[in-house]
Amino acid sequence: MTTDTAKEVITKKNQFGNYEIRMESIGGQGANLAGKILADAAIMDMGLNGISFASYGSEKKGTPVRAYIRLAESDKEIRINSPVTEPHLLVVFAPVLVKSVPIMNGIKPGAQIVVNTTKSPEETRDLLKIPGGVTLYCIDAMKIAVEEKVRINTVIIGAISRAVEFLDKDALEAGIRRMFEKKYPALVEPNIKGFKRGYEEAALYEVPADDKYPISEFKQFQPKLGWKNAPIGGVIVNPGNTVLNDLTASRTGFKPVWDESKCINCAECDTACPDQCIIFSRKTDEKGKERQFFDHIDYMHCKGCLRCVEVCPKQALTSAREAAE
Ligand code: SF4
Ligand code: SF4
Repeated sequence: MTTDTAKEVITKKNQFGNYEIRMESIGGQGANLAGKILADAAIMDMGLNGISFASYGSEKKGTPVRAYIRLAESDKEIRINSPVTEPHLLVVFAPVLVKSVPIMNGIKPGAQIVVNTTKSPEETRDLLKIPGGVTLYCIDAMKIAVEEKVRINTVIIGAISRAVEFLDKDALEAGIRRMFEKKYPALVEPNIKGFKRGYEEAALYEVPADDKYPISEFKQFQPKLGWKNAPIGGVIVNPGNTVLNDLTASRTGFKPVWDESKCINCAECDTACPDQCIIFSRKTDEKGKERQFFDHIDYMHCKGCLRCVEVCPKQALTSAREAAE
């Protein structure tokens, strides 16, 4: 697309003339759609060029998802389709990802970071090990999303609009309207409200230009085994198990909570749980008989799908908001 009005809109560019955004999220949080809305608004309402794409794990919901957006002036074609390695803007939908994904890779002084968190900017900096000289915007997007009954993605677009000067707020609002009017017209206004609150409630923090946390260069993941050193026949010589597999990073803001006083030990939840996270144990009942009783929820392996909450006939399991760490 070529227009004269779009020239010199973008205030920061890399050597290829692109402004680059990377979003770190969990499948189900809507980062892919957020990227599409951003690129669509930039193209349709700001006269820029843009692309958006995402990379998923094998199972979309509950696994790490990265969305990438590149923007350029209208007279500059975008020729690069590889993942964004040194973003001008990093957007962290789920800080808990820091346990399993090197989300700070490629972040340099001068970058901006938007984080969905309940923590203070200083605590967020320490949790994510944010290097000095970065501008941080913290937003409790989950709280706003719950209150407005939307997903966190449009709230986060509001915070992005606050952080990135050249991304026009009206253009992004128009992009959200266009996206939701097509398929879910009833969700247009709640999402616009969430977007506006994201813009207004994002808290700015200039991270001091110190050496508290080092800059971590972007590194491509290198598997230990490749075609040169893989065992003959592709044999797995060291089979693992899931005992150390921490799935807390898969939860998108809610977890099941058990109320022992309401539980009748019917085991409906155990049958429904796809990950065997409802743990029963043998105990003696009041008549002296040995029986299986609900013991606890294995939160390390619970991915927060909340099927157990849906099936519980006594509301002994309820869904509770989990702090965005
Ligand atoms: S489904 Fe509800 S009542 Fe039944 S065992 Fe599970 S928590 Fe208890
Ligand atoms: S939310 Fe409930 S059903 Fe889903 S993984 Fe966790 S314990 Fe299992």
